[in-house]
Amino acid sequence: MTADDDENATSIREKYLAERAKRLVEGRTDIVDLRGDPRLAHYRRDPWTDYEDRDPVSDDVDVVIVGGGMAGILAGVQLRKAGVRRIRIVEEAGGVGGTWYWNRYPGLMCDTESYVYLPLLEELDYIPKNRYAFGDEILAHFQTLAARYDLTQDALFHTRADTTVWDEGSLRWRVRTDRGDEITAKYVVMAVGILNLMKLPAIPDMDAFQGTSFHTSRWNYEYTGGTIHGGLDGLADKTVAIIGAGGTAAQAIPHLAKDSKQLFVFQRTPSAVGWRDNRPTADDFADDLQPGWQRERMENFQAILQATPVDVDLVDDGWTRHWAKATAMPFDPAWSMEEYEQRVEEVDFEIMEAHRRRIEETVDDAATAESLKPYYRYPCKRPLFHDEFLLAFNEPNVELVDCPAGVERLTETGLVAAGREYDVDCIVYATGFEPEMTPLFRRVGHEVTGRGGVQLADRWSDGPRTLHGVVSRCFPNMFLMPSPFQQGPVTANHTLAVVEVAEHVAAVIASLEEKGVAAFELSEDAEDAWCQKFLRVGPPLGAFQASCTPSRINNEGDPAAMKPLAGVYGDFFRYKKLLADWRATGEFEGLELVKESSQHEGDAG
Ligand code: NDP
Repeated sequence: MTADDDENATSIREKYLAERAKRLVEGRTDIVDLRGDPRLAHYRRDPWTDYEDRDPVSDDVDVVIVGGGMAGILAGVQLRKAGVRRIRIVEEAGGVGGTWYWNRYPGLMCDTESYVYLPLLEELDYIPKNRYAFGDEILAHFQTLAARYDLTQDALFHTRADTTVWDEGSLRWRVRTDRGDEITAKYVVMAVGILNLMKLPAIPDMDAFQGTSFHTSRWNYEYTGGTIHGGLDGLADKTVAIIGAGGTAAQAIPHLAKDSKQLFVFQRTPSAVGWRDNRPTADDFADDLQPGWQRERMENFQAILQATPVDVDLVDDGWTRHWAKATAMPFDPAWSMEEYEQRVEEVDFEIMEAHRRRIEETVDDAATAESLKPYYRYPCKRPLFHDEFLLAFNEPNVELVDCPAGVERLTETGLVAAGREYDVDCIVYATGFEPEMTPLFRRVGHEVTGRGGVQLADRWSDGPRTLHGVVSRCFPNMFLMPSPFQQGPVTANHTLAVVEVAEHVAAVIASLEEKGVAAFELSEDAEDAWCQKFLRVGPPLGAFQASCTPSRINNEGDPAAMKPLAGVYGDFFRYKKLLADWRATGEFEGLELVKESSQHEGDAG
C-alpha cells in the first residue's frame, strides 16, 4: 500500500465516521405504540379484505400454526406432506402471504432472484415470469401453495392469538384469540414472521397533521388511485411526502414521481442502490432443468454468500458479485488477519465508489447527487437494487429533503425537516418494520406461557434459549420458525432457511407421532450446550459494525446492546447437516419424552 492509499483510506474512514455521527441523534429509534394507541388504529386497518363476523371456534387440532406468511405456509405444506391432518393457521391478516399480503405498494417486487426466492417451484411446476418477481406474482404463489395443500379452509383469518398457554394436565397448547376462539393443539408452530411489526417513527406532533397519511404496508389506493403496477392518477393534483429511503421507498418513489404533482422525499440515510437488471424469464429457461434444480440453485446462492467454494455462480447478480465479496471474501491462509481485513476494506471501498459514481452519472443536480451518496461500509445496511429510483430525482416535480437527523416534527399542513417547513396533501410512511432481530416474544405480539407458568418474555430476557433455534425449554411441543439472531440459520435469501426448518419441523413431528410420543421437553443440558455456542465473548456483529452508520442490521448503531445469547448459526450447510444427523439417529437427543399413556421418561438423549 502506498502513502497515497493510506491517506485515502484514512480520509474515507473519517468521512464515514462523520456521516455516522450526524445520524446518531437522540430519539432516533423512538417509535409509536401502534397497538396501544387507539388514535393510530387506522394505520393498521386491513385495506385488502373486509372484516367478517363469525362465531368463535372451539376445537382440538394436531397443529396450530401462528402466522400464515411464508414460514407458516411452508411449515403447513411440509406437515401435510408428512401426513398431519388437522392444522389450523391463526393469522391477523385477511388471507395468507404475510409480508406479501400486507405490502402491495406501487412498484413492489423482490430483489432476491425469483427462481431462488419463490419456494417449491418444482412442486407447483411453475416458472416465475421475471428474473425478479413483482409482489402480486409472489402473493399469488403463496395463495396457490396454501390452497394446493388445503391450508386455507381451516385457517382463522383476521384473528390474533391473545394467549398461548401450555396445559400440563392434557399435554396440549391452548390458544385463545381476539375473536373468542379457543383451540387446543398437540403442537404449536410459531411462524409470526420477521418483518411483521409495522414501524412508525415517533415524530413530534404526529397527530397534528390534517391531511392523508398511511404506511406503505397499508397503501391507500382509494386515495392515490392505481395499482401495484402504478397509474396513481389520484395524485395528479397532490403534493406528496414520502418518509424513508430504504427498499420500500426506492420501489415506490419512481411511481410517486411519475404521478404526483409534487413529491418530497425525506431521506435520513441514503441507501446503496445497485444495478438490478430485471428481465423476463427466457423462453428456454426450463428446458435443461433437472429435478432438484431449485434447491441446487438456492444452495449455490447461499454458498457464494457464505464463502463456500463453488464452480459456478448460477444467480450472478449484485448479491453474489458485491454483497458476497464484501461480507464473505474467501480467506487465503498466506494472508495475516490484518492483510485480510485490509483487502476486504479495499474491495468495500471499490464497491461503494462504484455506487457513488453511478449516482454522479445518473442524477443531474450535483447537490442532490451528493446527498444521495452512501458514505459507509457496504455491509452496514441492507443493499438495494433498482434501475429507476435514481432517475426519479431528475424529474422537475421531485425534491430530495436530506435530513440525517430525521423529520423534526409534523404540523397541521405538513412536515418540518432540515429547518424548513413543507406543506403537503399526503404523507407516505416508508419507515419499515421493527427489525428482524426483534425478540420472538415481541414479534409474537401476545403472551406465551409455557410449563409451570413460565413466560417466554421472562425466560428469554437475556436472549433466545433454544436447541437449533427451533425448540426451547419450558415450551414443550412448540416449534419456532427461523429468524435472525434466534440461534439458528440466517440466509440472505430467507426462503432457504425457512424451507430447511419447515422440513425439519415436519420430519420431527412425524417421527414423534410414529413413536407414540405425547410430549417432549428440551433438557436443560441440551439447551445450555446450544446456548454456549452463542454466548459472546468478543464484540457482537463483528468489530466493524460498531463504526457503521446506524441501521437495522447493527441494532441502530448500538451492537453492544444486543442480548448476550442473541446469535446466528453462520454456516448454513453445517447447520443442515447437523439437523439431518440429529434426525437420523432417531433418538431425539436432548429431548425428554413423555410417551402416550405413560409418565415422564426422562432424557431420551
Ligand atoms: P427500512 O427499515 O429498510 O427503511 C425505513 C426507512 O425509513 C429508512 O430510510 C429510515 O432511515 C427511514 N426512517 C425511519 N425513521 C425516520 C424518521 N424519523 N425520519 C426520516 N426517515 C426515517 O424499511 P423498508 O420498508 O424500506 O424495508 C423493510 C425491509 O424489507 C428491509 O429489510 C428491506 O430491505 C426489505 N425490502 C426488501 C425488498 C426486496 O425487494 N426484497 C423490497 C422492499 C423492502 P434510516 O435508513 O436512517 O434508518
